[in-house]
Amino acid sequence: MVKKMQIDILSPYGYCKGVIHAINIVKELRKNNPNTPIYIWGNLVHNNHVTDALKKLDIITIEDNLKDKTIEKLSKLKKGFFVTTAHGANKKIVQEAEKLGFLHISATCPIVSNIERKIEKEINENKKEIIYYGIKNHPELEAIISINSQKIHAIYSKNDLNKYNLNNMSLAVQTTVLIDDLKAIKKCLPNINLINNICNETTIRQTKLNEIKDSYYDRIIVVGDKKSNNTKELYKIANNKSKKTMFINNAEELSKEIINQDEKILIVSGASTPKAIVDQIIDYVKFGIKIELDDKKILL
Ligand code: SF4
Repeated sequence: MVKKMQIDILSPYGYCKGVIHAINIVKELRKNNPNTPIYIWGNLVHNNHVTDALKKLDIITIEDNLKDKTIEKLSKLKKGFFVTTAHGANKKIVQEAEKLGFLHISATCPIVSNIERKIEKEINENKKEIIYYGIKNHPELEAIISINSQKIHAIYSKNDLNKYNLNNMSLAVQTTVLIDDLKAIKKCLPNINLINNICNETTIRQTKLNEIKDSYYDRIIVVGDKKSNNTKELYKIANNKSKKTMFINNAEELSKEIINQDEKILIVSGASTPKAIVDQIIDYVKFGIKIELDDKKILL
């Protein structure tokens, strides 16, 4: 009997505008400064294929989990560009890097920058404090808190709300959290002013995935880096939709049992997952061919 495989891709797929913006900034920087060291503090975007492709352009990623040791590490490096990532950056570290003689280049997503400005305005002009819901240790959260650590209070679940007197507070959230988590928090705080900042790129993918009938697909393959919060949130939704949900980073993680099966498959990918990886996975699942990755395609 001929096997009938169906593969659908959840649209949109490929990079969001913020990721394209960040990649273009560092590519231009390298093109115009072929001999100057370029360091990125943390992953430019949360995808290891992008980090690896940048490394081949001699653009070095410095771990962002060094905390207090970051400046010590920087002080030992040859001076050059200090690039901060699409997620934003801790303002204090940027200042310290500049004091050391590095030239700061921001690759922050314009949507994140806009949220930072809104939060600053809420604190400075409207005299409010902020409850900020996000993911512990995520660079976007750390960047936001660094705006004013006295007036911005991080929460990681709605249970954390009990710790605060919520008078004169506004609520803001990380751009990539689950819409349902925001709704649950907002329900506890019906009168709070919400600086609504979940990114559209995140909501569209989440909403479309939510709309799919449970068990319609035999298998859902979520593609992205495990560091990517928006991809992790998509995985949480997908996991409730299909018994055979997988979270993989590239075709290397697939075994041959998956090739050309009689299955209905949905491929879902995060906002920092390269299209080339999704295409590689489709080729493997359909034909059993693992196409080698092309750095040019990873970096657009
Ligand atoms: S997901 Fe949204 S906020 Fe995050 S980088 Fe992409 S466009 Fe910017």
